[in-house]
Amino acid sequence: MPRLNAQVKLKSILRDYYENLEAPLAWCTSAGPAEILRAMGFDVYFPENHGALLGASRKALKYIPRAHQAGYAGEICSYLTADIGAWLMHETPLTEAYGLPSIPRPDLIVFNTNQCREVAEWFNFFGEEFDCPVVGVFPPRHLEEVTRADIDQVVAQFRNVIAVGEEVIGKPLDPERLKETLRLSLEGTTLWKKVLETARNVPSPLTFFDGTILMAPVVVLRGTQVCVDFYREALAELEELAARDVAAVPGEQVRLYWEGMPIWGRLRFMADLFVEQRACVVASTYCNSWVFDDFDPDDPLPSMAAAYTKIFINRGEMTKLEYLRRMVEEYRVDGIIFHDSKTCFNNTNSRFGLPRKLQEATGIETLSIDGDLNDLRFFSDGQTRTRLETFIEQLTMKSMSM
Ligand code: SF4
Repeated sequence: MPRLNAQVKLKSILRDYYENLEAPLAWCTSAGPAEILRAMGFDVYFPENHGALLGASRKALKYIPRAHQAGYAGEICSYLTADIGAWLMHETPLTEAYGLPSIPRPDLIVFNTNQCREVAEWFNFFGEEFDCPVVGVFPPRHLEEVTRADIDQVVAQFRNVIAVGEEVIGKPLDPERLKETLRLSLEGTTLWKKVLETARNVPSPLTFFDGTILMAPVVVLRGTQVCVDFYREALAELEELAARDVAAVPGEQVRLYWEGMPIWGRLRFMADLFVEQRACVVASTYCNSWVFDDFDPDDPLPSMAAAYTKIFINRGEMTKLEYLRRMVEEYRVDGIIFHDSKTCFNNTNSRFGLPRKLQEATGIETLSIDGDLNDLRFFSDGQTRTRLETFIEQLTMKSMSM
């Protein structure tokens, strides 16, 4: 039985979402301009959510080798390989979960390489499979500062998405509908941020593992009233738990930050392991990646361009360092776990000295663990347990001696 009422509610929301997806339908990356597509009248489907589902349902390992056979390397994004492998094997977990015969057929595919170039390969593959138009947004990458020129460049590319979308759907984008969609998106993302911020309470009513489940609407239903209503209820529940100091991890002794991708196929194992150790993972870069403070319904395209270009994964090392330093302070974190995700170097931040720089800047202890978002061949239960237990023990001793 889920610990939170919001987790129960989420099941019916996702059922409604998947069962009601219909044409005209657009595919979009998780931090792509979904509001534009929704405002144009497309239903929107997110292949990354499907990739996470393949991981969480532990089906990924069955499909990844099929993508390897088709020429995709073993070290590239295991969302991509699991998703393409499943397609080539004519299977999807959406059949068992929601009765869908297949993943939904796109009329338009849109990606944004603000997160990685892998999405271009992945989405172009499906563009060919479905013989459907594919539009890419290619913003400047790894920025410390996001300038007006950067934003203008992305706005011009959003205009191209709109032009192609209008051709596909056969009618012009209504600017008022875009404003309204962005208003809903802003409200949803603001509530999501507040949900995450309830974990600032000591003890925290929420864990990173809860967050990886609760985040689904801000990804797949951003820009809808359903998303807003869901987070309003979830926030009320979590604020009430925080007010009563109800701990997500009973006896919380250590507070941790998770940097990097979730390990979808081992979420339960990891959550239980932290509970055993009385350690709560209170915050993460990942869950916060769908907090878009810059949205402004009165200035839709430039504000969306700013929000989607400023995401953590698209920033320079100094900006990332500053962000993490702030999170450590705000969430009163004792240690940071960096997940070195073997098939996603884009969302792995332990390889260029960031843990050490953070340690020097804040005194915070860090640990890097090996794993992967979907490909469990890169993950070892035993090794992870040993490393985490030792790390948490050190942090516990340190906090007791202070
Ligand atoms: S960011 Fe990583 S996990 Fe996400 S699509 Fe790109 S390579 Fe895959």
